[in-house]
Amino acid sequence: MEDTAAARVSTPTVDAVLGALYGAGAVSRAEIGATTGLSRPSVSAAVAELLAAGLVEEIAEPATGRGRPSRLVRLSTRRADAVGIELGRAHVAVAIADPAGRVAATAAIDSDPTTSLLDRAVAAVDLIEETAATHGIELAAVRRVAVGTPGPRFVSAGGHGTGGHGAGPSPTARPETPAAFDVARLERERTAVATLVGRRFDVPVDVGNNTRWTAVAEAHRRGRDLDLVYVRFDEGVGGGVVEHGEAATGSIGAAGEIGHVPVDPLGARCACGGRGCLELVASLPAILRAVRARDLDDLRDRIDEPDVRAAVDRAATAAGGVVAGLLAIANPAIVAVGGAVATIPGFTTRLGEVARDASPDWATIDLLIEPAGTDRVLGAVGAATAAAATLDVLVPLRRKDA
Ligand SMILES: [Zn+2]
Repeated sequence: MEDTAAARVSTPTVDAVLGALYGAGAVSRAEIGATTGLSRPSVSAAVAELLAAGLVEEIAEPATGRGRPSRLVRLSTRRADAVGIELGRAHVAVAIADPAGRVAATAAIDSDPTTSLLDRAVAAVDLIEETAATHGIELAAVRRVAVGTPGPRFVSAGGHGTGGHGAGPSPTARPETPAAFDVARLERERTAVATLVGRRFDVPVDVGNNTRWTAVAEAHRRGRDLDLVYVRFDEGVGGGVVEHGEAATGSIGAAGEIGHVPVDPLGARCACGGRGCLELVASLPAILRAVRARDLDDLRDRIDEPDVRAAVDRAATAAGGVVAGLLAIANPAIVAVGGAVATIPGFTTRLGEVARDASPDWATIDLLIEPAGTDRVLGAVGAATAAAATLDVLVPLRRKDA
């Protein structure tokens, strides 16, 4: 068995070589010797053991025209180390990371928003198996899985809640009664998902908010350790605050719920229990409702009508004000703006103008405000990236005999 073989090769020399390879890309044996201080024969012997155990692989060095081309060594790209899953409302996505933290394979499928979170988790596990098989990736050595789901969820009389049979009006909700934030239900569903996925891989599973994982992916695709704020304007409004490559979670995982920052503290009651939330003006449904547009295409067709222009401007202005607040709190290098609303002509530009104008000068000196990625695997990629980042490369060597 693979793990037995790996356990047998764990020696201080082998550990040192693995440590040198982690995060180093493909390197020569001489470079490993220079990094570790080990002799040439020791490095060669350790690499031979790691090759036999399938933990590292050899690739040909690009020809330079000088001397004999040597073989470079890197952590195996054929062994999955961490897996990320996004159980979105309308899609399920997976990402598989190798021991160097690189995302080696991704896949996404449509999913029915009326199915349960657990059903979507079952579909995700199947998708991981298929994707690994397609790419020739070994899943036996997976050490950690991270899952993103929508939520915190808000159960409201307005049908704002999601999932299962609970989408209709709550029998106990009355107009003007703050809806209960159903922490208990969210925890129950996430625990069920963690149990299912954990049983398949026999590893620890983290279940968090999918938008926060997307924020991590937005940061990492621009460079590790980045400080970035991700804001997403879609059916709802959400986001994530990433500091040094990691998303802030807060005490119940709700840090980054920018849709529920009040832009009008004395305004209308929101489903979250607060008042005058950004989501009430800047979500896609809110903008469509304000101008009685059928859908995004209808709104785009009417974009030059004064009332449509005004509604988009109102949403972007409110969003810009909230982003300005985030600049002062989180001091990011980049604000990435995503979601369907961000594709409405003028929205992101206006948001940026307002945010820059309303912010302290120091907050915008080197600030970039730019479109977020549109690839629907980003939430899974961020989850895999975060899962991989929590791992120590030496753990699998001792996992079974610790
Ligand atoms: Zn709210």
